[in-house]
Amino acid sequence: MPRFHRILILGGTTEARLLAGRLAAQGEREITVSLAGRVRDIVPHPVPVRVGGFGGIDGLAAHLATEGVDLLIDATHPFADQMSRHAVAASTQAGVPLLALRRPAWIRIEGDRWTEVDDIHQAKAALGDAGRRVFLALGRQEIDGFGWAARHFYLVRSIEPIADRRLDDAVYMTARGPFRETDERALMGAHRIDTVVARNSGGDAGYGKIAAARALGIEVILIGRPALPEAPTVATVDAAMAWIDHRPASTAARGV
Ligand code: NAP
Repeated sequence: MPRFHRILILGGTTEARLLAGRLAAQGEREITVSLAGRVRDIVPHPVPVRVGGFGGIDGLAAHLATEGVDLLIDATHPFADQMSRHAVAASTQAGVPLLALRRPAWIRIEGDRWTEVDDIHQAKAALGDAGRRVFLALGRQEIDGFGWAARHFYLVRSIEPIADRRLDDAVYMTARGPFRETDERALMGAHRIDTVVARNSGGDAGYGKIAAARALGIEVILIGRPALPEAPTVATVDAAMAWIDHRPASTAARGV
């Protein structure tokens, strides 16, 4: 019998899906992935999926106890900081160990023209007064209702259609990554984009736009990650597997 038998993975990322598959393939464990339900067309998972919020910290703690979860894995998107905070608090409350799987942020390299900002409001301000041709590569939540200035042209790409299309000079498109650099270059060229607004999500699936912007000499207004609470953390699916199979007690206690 493996050490952790019932594992709940807070998902919504490629890593969560891959980790679920790897754990399920070992057999003997019951793995569930939890999704927020932000997209209607859910990518198939190799394990059972539950969808929707838990009802805050107390709700998640109660869920862990009721379902007999003995390991909670926070593999949410790096910008889903509320869920990550709830995971830490609920794990303490329920006495269930927590592992966070957090992919590293992208690092600036030679040729990148990044303007790094802290949040969406700063990103909006960084666009300035002159009219630009902007590629908004953000989540629907960051696009809806944020009052993007009308003086710019926007190419708006999201997984789910934007219901509230209040930008006049805009092209709206839906697409789901991964996005290759060559395709991103073609897209930016076709719309004569001169600025990309993106979140520093890290990972390969979204890096194509960053590489394409570098190649084209285009500015990227890059929104930095929200602060996340301390938790035992790994950066890759492989490292998560190693942690789960051989968790060193000292590492868990130090919260690294
Ligand atoms: P959030 O602000 O951290 O979470 C808000 C609430 O949604 C949580 O308190 C929780 O509700 C519920 N929730 C979030 N993730 C969940 C999960 N895996 N399973 C069950 N419930 C979950 O996260 P968000 O509103 O989803 O997204 C914030 C940012 O992350 C946005 O920028 C979004 O574009 C980005 N993002 C999120 C996902 C995703 O799958 N969530 C994927 C890609 C990008 P309760 O308090 O009721 O438990």
